[in-house]
Amino acid sequence: MCVFCEIINGELPAKVVYEDEKVIAFHDINPQAPVHILIVPKEHIPTVNDLEEKHAEVVGHIFLVAKKIAQDMGFAENGYRILINCNRDGGQEVYHIHFHLLAGKPLGPMLC
Ligand code: C5P
Repeated sequence: MCVFCEIINGELPAKVVYEDEKVIAFHDINPQAPVHILIVPKEHIPTVNDLEEKHAEVVGHIFLVAKKIAQDMGFAENGYRILINCNRDGGQEVYHIHFHLLAGKPLGPMLC
């Protein structure tokens, strides 16, 4: 089973910072910044290429959850980055769509 589905089902531990009926957010096990949180829809959607019109609500919801986490954890004002990797060339490793929320230091120009 998909590793993020295992976290969602409680079969694999994670440091959860937010959860509701649609999404879960937890600390990345291999952080790339002082704050590195993954926001994951509970529905198993493999990649951005698999998004359909019916997913628009949860995708919009994820941005509101990112904003809430940033405010609650106190880095909203300093700023943060939200990024999504898609497929091989995008550097995607886990094929369950997830939004990286990175913060805690000046992140510099966009990576490529
Ligand atoms: O976007 P991408 O698929 O490359 O990112 C996957 C992320 O999931 C990685 O940053 C990795 O550290 C994280 N991960 C995790 N917990 C796991 C497996 C992967 O936080 N059990």
